[in-house]
Amino acid sequence: MGFKECQFCHQFFPSDLPQDDTCSRCRSEIDRERKTVRAYLEKHQGASIMEINLATKVPIKAIQRLIETGALSFK
Ligand SMILES: [Zn+2]
Repeated sequence: MGFKECQFCHQFFPSDLPQDDTCSRCRSEIDRERKTVRAYLEKHQGASIMEINLATKVPIKAIQRLIETGALSFK
């Protein structure tokens, strides 16, 4: 079993998968944030990152991360 460094919290976690770069804790956190933001965007189309942040309390950094990774599509 090898160890990899999580790209978000920079802690090491056990993994042997080359494409694996996120620990399970961050992964579930990101998953939760993604669902929250998606649900908000369904009801508020065209909302800005700022508006999403205020309404959902998901940090702006986390929202930007979701957009960067393609987990969230933004117009
Ligand atoms: Zn992590």
